[in-house]
Amino acid sequence: MRVTTGRTDRVADYTARFAAFLETEVAPREADLAVQDVGTAFNPRLDTAGRMHPAVWEARREVQRRSAAAGLYTPHVAAEVGGGGFTRAEMQHVEEFVYRHAGLGLGIAALAWTEGPNPAIEHCSPAARERWLDPLMTGEITAAFANTEIAVGTDVLAMETRARPDGDDWILDGTKAWITNAHFADVVQVVAVTEPGAGTRSLSMFLVDATSPGFARGRDIPTMLNDGLTGELHLEGVRVPAQDVVGEIGDGFALAMAWINWRRLCRGGMCAGWGTWLLERALDRARSRTSGGAPIAELQSVQHMLADMDADLYAARAASLQAQAELDDLPGGAFGMPLHPEAPRLTSLVKVINDEAFFRVTDRAVQVHGGTGLRLGSPEEKLFRIARNLKIPAGTVEIQRNAIARGLLRGSRR
Ligand SMILES: Cc1cc2nc3c(=O)[nH]c(=O)nc-3n(C[C@H](O)[C@H](O)[C@H](O)COP(=O)(O)OP(=O)(O)OC[C@H]3O[C@@H](n4cnc5c(N)ncnc54)[C@H](O)[C@@H]3O)c2cc1C
Repeated sequence: MRVTTGRTDRVADYTARFAAFLETEVAPREADLAVQDVGTAFNPRLDTAGRMHPAVWEARREVQRRSAAAGLYTPHVAAEVGGGGFTRAEMQHVEEFVYRHAGLGLGIAALAWTEGPNPAIEHCSPAARERWLDPLMTGEITAAFANTEIAVGTDVLAMETRARPDGDDWILDGTKAWITNAHFADVVQVVAVTEPGAGTRSLSMFLVDATSPGFARGRDIPTMLNDGLTGELHLEGVRVPAQDVVGEIGDGFALAMAWINWRRLCRGGMCAGWGTWLLERALDRARSRTSGGAPIAELQSVQHMLADMDADLYAARAASLQAQAELDDLPGGAFGMPLHPEAPRLTSLVKVINDEAFFRVTDRAVQVHGGTGLRLGSPEEKLFRIARNLKIPAGTVEIQRNAIARGLLRGSRR
């Protein structure tokens, strides 16, 4: 069966080492946080400016550095730049394991997320590799991806941030908004217009040093995630050397899509892992909670919710594995530049199927728990908010449908 693709020996090795890392490296740091009254990794207290409490941030950073040293931080990155070189099908299993077993704890930070190395930055110059990518790989610094603006999200080609040449350098002006890790990133992958009117060749990607003159971190943008990580960035005459252009001038749209498609595909393992955790918690709750003198697990109404959770998880996991394996088989894989014409439909299928299945799964998980499922800070309540969020960033579910329909209408293989 195709859906078993990706369960390789190196995935088994990775997951065994990750399980040990959770015990030896993550658990002590979670215990340290617990006595500090600063909240937890996913329900951190926020500072007066609305940002994640510095102690929680630093605990995440320590986990990242230790994970990198243990060879666990970057399995998804190409082997040529020092990563694990795992396929997307392998990563689906890795991500499912990580989210299933780390739950909402600090262990999530051990696998590079939006603040880590990604398929776009792999296209940087040799000089930028030394300056930015190598320290990102070791967890010494963190990154952010800055595409969205206050007036422009989906309609990315309408962005207003501009980059103009000045000798060998580029000068950037504009404001980015809704940026994850805006408050802490050391380097920002900024997408800006370099050739107005040139369509998908109008944009370029720059690696911007967050200590550059003219670069300023803006306000926090509080969201229902309440994690103190999302904010604005201001660029006023920020000078970027030519070596910090990613790829070629005009590659920005393709590079942005490589980053975004990476996040879309990570939904497969993330939703399977968290969803399985929620299903197990719902089963436990149904067995132990009684109504009318018997466990609620004996009620057909509750059994049907559990069955529906299982059906959604099974279908989303199977579809994701199939799509990720198909993407691996395409010339250039999931993030090729140029991207294979079959890739957008498959990637968007993974995102929309998982976003919507996981939303139903979290809704039912809350329902099985009754009032307890609504308790602020409970895994059910937090994951329900995360699930609602997932349908918007990295391209809304409507935009995924656009890409799927475009693929179908241009005659995609089915
Ligand atoms: C928590 C969070 C973290 C984020 N992190 C980042 C980040 O790190 N970096 C970054 O660059 N951005 C980030 N974003 C921004 C995110 O990618 C955008 O919010 C998202 O792409 C949607 O854009 P928008 O909010 O402008 O919605 P809009 O584009 O205004 O969309 C509004 C509605 O109109 C629909 N719509 C718009 N255009 C179309 C169309 N052409 N066809 C069909 N329907 C359409 C949408 O589907 C949606 O329902 C983040 C957002 C959030 C909430």
